[in-house]
Order: sequence, then structure tokens, then C-alpha cells
Amino acid sequence: MNAARPSAEGFSVTDSRFSFVGTNRELDAHIGPDTQVIDLARAVVLPGLIDAHLHGVPKYPEGHRMHQVDLSASTTDQMATLVARLAKQAQARPEGDWILGFGYEDTVLGGHPDRSVLDRVSTEHPIYIVHSSGHRAVANTLALELSGVSDEVRDPPGGAFLRDADSKLNGILLESASEPLRAAQKSTPSFEELMTGVESTLRQFSVNGLTTVVDATPYRRAWLFPVYRALRDAGRLPVRVVVMVPFDMFEEFEPTNFKQDDWLSIGPVKVFHGNSLSGRTAWLSEPYLGRPEDFGIPPARSQKELNAIVRLIDEKGMQAAIHSNGDREIDMVLSAFEKLPKTPSGRERRHRIEHASVMTRPLLERAKKAGLVLALHSYVFEHGDKMEDYGASRWDWMHAHRAALDMGIPVAGNSDYPISSAKPMLRFQSLLTRRARNGKVYGAKQRISLTEAVETFTIGAAYSVFQEKIKGSITIGKLADFVVLDRDLDATPAGNLSEIGIVSTWVGGQRSPGCCMNVPLTPQKP
Ligand SMILES: [Zn+2]
Repeated sequence: MNAARPSAEGFSVTDSRFSFVGTNRELDAHIGPDTQVIDLARAVVLPGLIDAHLHGVPKYPEGHRMHQVDLSASTTDQMATLVARLAKQAQARPEGDWILGFGYEDTVLGGHPDRSVLDRVSTEHPIYIVHSSGHRAVANTLALELSGVSDEVRDPPGGAFLRDADSKLNGILLESASEPLRAAQKSTPSFEELMTGVESTLRQFSVNGLTTVVDATPYRRAWLFPVYRALRDAGRLPVRVVVMVPFDMFEEFEPTNFKQDDWLSIGPVKVFHGNSLSGRTAWLSEPYLGRPEDFGIPPARSQKELNAIVRLIDEKGMQAAIHSNGDREIDMVLSAFEKLPKTPSGRERRHRIEHASVMTRPLLERAKKAGLVLALHSYVFEHGDKMEDYGASRWDWMHAHRAALDMGIPVAGNSDYPISSAKPMLRFQSLLTRRARNGKVYGAKQRISLTEAVETFTIGAAYSVFQEKIKGSITIGKLADFVVLDRDLDATPAGNLSEIGIVSTWVGGQRSPGCCMNVPLTPQKP
């Protein structure tokens, strides 16, 4: 990823940074009596991988009261299985305990479960499960009651309660309609439980070859900064973390009061302006396929309000990272950026659009002109099947990696975990093939090359948070973050990239704990 030196045989590390990069012969001169030499046996080494947008949601062990039942396609491919998996959890819990699930796939189950399905699981436990998009959820009757949601409820701004033919609630909640349900869960894990839960999620990222992650927490979490700070101070961060500032915490947040270092730093301000691609709530200029009345859910705020928010963030000298998927949402976001005054000389803005999924050439041209970074979804593997609802005519302009790179727009690789898997090798496979789990290809014109895919998850992601001078390539002076693979990327067919194993992940020249495959590395005496 260093254009001046695209490949090398080895490197040296001093004080957690790369101190030399070159051939084995050249490296001989850098080996002193105290140098530890590690022979990777000609394994392929990449710069540490960076995920520019994911969610470090705490992972609680099975049996924990905050444990969520995994309802993703790999475990739950039929409605009966979904009921059985939730029922198992309910049987193990006292009456009244919330039963939570995440990741159900309507496209695999043959439709969305509704309250009647969840009432079959239990009427003694409130049940709340979230779709794989994270943007729609289903509740059973008891959960709706405990949340104070009845048939008389009105749709909130930016959300909708779905109803059946006799206009009774069917338990399906879109976007902001799920807020009363989340509030009713009153989950109060202890600080130590939160630390352990977040640490466990970060370790999983490290096992997959990531050395830096950008946490794009969307809403206020009182524990967000304290937990990351405590993990950093205790030396328990397995990966470097950049934390975005949720917009509802922005006004009170003072970056200068927060001690930043190579392990933990503050990133852009995260703003929601729009809805979900995979949840099929994104606001579109043309209707969803086969639903001529359905243009998605309009954002709750006006153009004027959005302009003011963007202006506020920009005046504070911070980056705005605005979540937006539908072309109609993106148009509003672009208009807000276009209204900013001219950049003071010497200052780069690098404002970002998160996802920017349903694109057109004119919208991309405006993004280019505004100097934006696009954090595009790379999840056709997991969510390609949901693109059916947008119609084939739109596929070649969705997740428009090829077009953006050709136009010179910086693209930041990301998984949006847990929306798609935080495994960069699977993300590369998805970017190169545009093939979904069901075998079908969506938008082949937007395929990119292996080198380009790796660039988005290294130098591109680093650029998106102003860290390209210290991360993203194996270059003298940069932080010694790198990852050792069990086979050659170039020699692996695009459709098999996800099978590549991570031998070890290194952060600042130290092997990340617990990672990865049990391959002994042989330290040699000089
Ligand atoms: Zn996200």
C-alpha cells in the first residue's frame, strides 16, 4: 500500500513503528545483538486492516442477562427455528425477563415474523428481535404493552408502526418506532460487564486481521467514552479505536478534554440523516419495486435543520459523518455540504457520507466536488438479496465503488458490523465478486480489483479519519500494525477470499493477544 515501495521481503520495528522496510539482505544490517528476529516463512503480510465504520456493541456470553439470541441466516433459516431458538432462551429465563434477538433475515425466512409469531414463543416474557439491517424490529404483545404502545399509537417522525388489514399493530417497528421498546428494556449492565463485553467484541475484530476500528455509535451512550478510556488505560484494547461522537453528545463534548493517543482517538461526529438500505426503509426518488406508493421513510428533519447541523460541526473544526442511504436522503446531505462557506486555506474538511448506497452519476459528481469521503457498504454477500426490492435497474448504481474510485472519490472500507461481518477477507470477496450468499451477482459493473479493495481497508480507511500519515501502509515511520495471512491473496480466486486465514495480527509491533490461528512463529537468535 506504499506506492513508492509496493512490496518488500521484510521490515524492522523499533519503538512500535516501522524503522526499516526492504530486502532480507538489506535487513541484515539492521540486526543488532538485542534484536529479536522473527521468520514468517515467506507468509504474505499486509498493513494492519482498518474498518472505517462499525459498531463496537458489547458482546455478552451465553446465559448473561444481556445475551442476544443469534438469529442470523447461518443459525436460523426457518420461522420454526426462530421460534424454537427464542423459546429455548425464554425457558431458561424467569417470567418477565426480556428475551432479545438479533440478525433475523426475512429474505431467508420467507418473510418478516410478526407479533403473532413471537407470541407463540412466549406470552410471559417480553420479546424484542432486530432485523439484520438493525433498522427494523419485531415485538410480541407483552413487549408492546410494557412499552406503552397500543393500537392508538401514531407513527413518530422518521418511523412507522406496521399494521395488519384491520389496522391493528402487527408488532413490526420501522426505524424510530422501535425507540419506546428499547427504552422499556432498562438494561443496566455494570461498568465492568460493559468493559468485558466491548473487549470481547474488539478481540473478535483483532482475530479477523483488524488493527484499527472506527466505532460509529449513532446515539448517546453514557458509557461510550468512559469504557473505551478505561480499556485503553488498563492496556486492554486489542485494536486501536477511533470513536465517533454521536451527534446527541456533540454539544457537550470537548475534544481537548479527552486524552487522545495512538490507541484511542476521537473521530468524526456521527449524524443520522436517513434510513436503511437492507431494512428497505431508505428514502428514494423512485418507489421500491412492486410497491408504487412506497418511497421509504422520509428523514425526520428538514433541509434547513440539516444545514444548521452540518454548519455547527464544521465550525467546530470537526468532520461530519452523515448516515444516508437513499438517493433522496443523499441529495439533502449533499445540499447541506454545498452550503458550507469556502474552506479556510490550509484546512481540509474530509466530511463523510456513511453508506451512500443508492447513487447516481450526478450525485457522485456533487460528492466529488464537495471533497467528500464515501464510506460505502461492502456487504453484497450478506445483503445482496435485499437489493431485489430496489429493482435490477438500480443495482449498477448501488454501493458504487467502481464509479467512485474512477472519479477519484476517496472510499473508506468498512463492515458496519454487526450489519455485516467484520472480516475484511469476506469484505474483499464481496467487493470483487458482488456475489450474494444466494449465489446471485448484484451490480457487476461496480466490481473493484483486489488491490483497490485492500486500499479501501487500509490507506482509504486511514484517510477517512485523518490518520494516513501514521497508518495504512508498511512505511518507515508509521505505526507497526500488520497482519500475517495463511496464504497468498493474489493466488486465491476472488470467490474464495473469505477462506483466507489470519495467522496473527500485530499492533505496534506486538502480537495481539489471543489471536489467531495456532501457528507458532519461530523467533530466531541473530
Ligand atoms: Zn452503522
